[in-house]
Amino acid sequence: MVLTGIEIFKLLPKTNCKECGDPTCLAFAMKLAAGKAELNACPYVSDEAKAKLSEASAPPIMSVTIGVGERALKVGGETVMFRHEKRFENPPGFAILISDGMDDAEVDHRLGKFKQLEYERIGLILRPDLIAVKSDSGDKAKFEALVGKVKQKTDGGIILMSDNPDIMAAGLAACADRKPLLYAATEGNLDKMAELAKTNACPLAVKADGLEKLAELTAKLTEAGVKQMVIDSGSRKLRQAFEDQVIIRGAALAKKFRPLGFPTIVIPGEMTDDPMKEAVIASVFVAKYGGIIILSDFYGESLFPLLVERLNIYTDPQRPLATTEGIYEINNPDENSPVLITSNFSLTYFIVSGEIEASRVPSYLLVKDTEGLSVMTAWAAGKFVSDAIAPFIKKSGIADKVKHRKLIIPGYAAPESGGLEEELGDWEVQVGPREGSHIPAFLKTWKA
Ligand code: SF4
Repeated sequence: MVLTGIEIFKLLPKTNCKECGDPTCLAFAMKLAAGKAELNACPYVSDEAKAKLSEASAPPIMSVTIGVGERALKVGGETVMFRHEKRFENPPGFAILISDGMDDAEVDHRLGKFKQLEYERIGLILRPDLIAVKSDSGDKAKFEALVGKVKQKTDGGIILMSDNPDIMAAGLAACADRKPLLYAATEGNLDKMAELAKTNACPLAVKADGLEKLAELTAKLTEAGVKQMVIDSGSRKLRQAFEDQVIIRGAALAKKFRPLGFPTIVIPGEMTDDPMKEAVIASVFVAKYGGIIILSDFYGESLFPLLVERLNIYTDPQRPLATTEGIYEINNPDENSPVLITSNFSLTYFIVSGEIEASRVPSYLLVKDTEGLSVMTAWAAGKFVSDAIAPFIKKSGIADKVKHRKLIIPGYAAPESGGLEEELGDWEVQVGPREGSHIPAFLKTWKA
């Protein structure tokens, strides 16, 4: 049963101590009811009240974990329709399809792509998450052998795809310890699939023809004790599938409709045969509101943009990505190497450090904490000005690393050069390029 804000309020201590970050217990209760606060933010809730509140405080969309260990993928747990309201919590997982109808060479090729197609961007590794192993042959032994091979050759999460419970059991025999997602329970196999999911403590995907039938099935499964579910509305036309995603998210969040309060799974490859159209369809579901996206194959030219889109959409809009303040040594600098300074906005840091690295000039890069703001924004906000930079330079320890006293500041911070020389005393402040791409040419002519 979903509790209202007032009902939750009645179970709280009502001391208005503010330790939860809200001014009153009532304000906290309202947030809890809206799924915008977590119960453990209040340290004074009694165990009895906790038990009663656990359902009300659970996110309106269940968090579901697929896999184990470092590569375990958590999906769902979302609390808002739009990322600017708070943030999106758990990025969708990308899966590559492998079928027991494929020959060994094709399977090996796809497993190789799963491992190789990973990219570093602003210090983060972007890579796909899951391998969806599908039974097309209808042969239990063949499916079990393929699942065993996938388990042995990769550490990614696994999705087992069959609507035949006997074949699903064979797949589970090979990889139950990896806690795969079972795709899918349908009206025809519901009880047997529920039993497999419960016995093996694995999440279960539920597929139905339309949202009403889907809600009916998830309600039955919840009653049967299955908690970790992922849902597929069965639509294989883009427009209907997109509308289903929006309705599912809206029903779970606005109406607190628990039978649809689960992350979704979408299969763009079943909506088109064209790989580029498939990538475009997948990009729609990255934005709204796919939980798991199974791709019929991986291609670098479409997977990379999808991974970047996912990164952008699931980055907290209220917190810029930031690099740790400090001294970064690039290309093995020594006591005669140039010293540059920049802000700690991740994108700025990676552009500047990348250009320095490309120049092959051994250098020190000082990264000043500007709360994740770029040089220009930080300068305008008073966080990258002489008063703020000078104390950082003095305590950074850079004076012990170089014999010279020359500091290169970004071109955009040129107005600070005079003030900075005054603050630092014995340092000469040099104005570097405005654009990162001009750094290599600047450094190549620089002299201590
Ligand atoms: Fe009320 Fe608990 Fe928040 Fe204190 S921490 S104001 S008791 S909800």
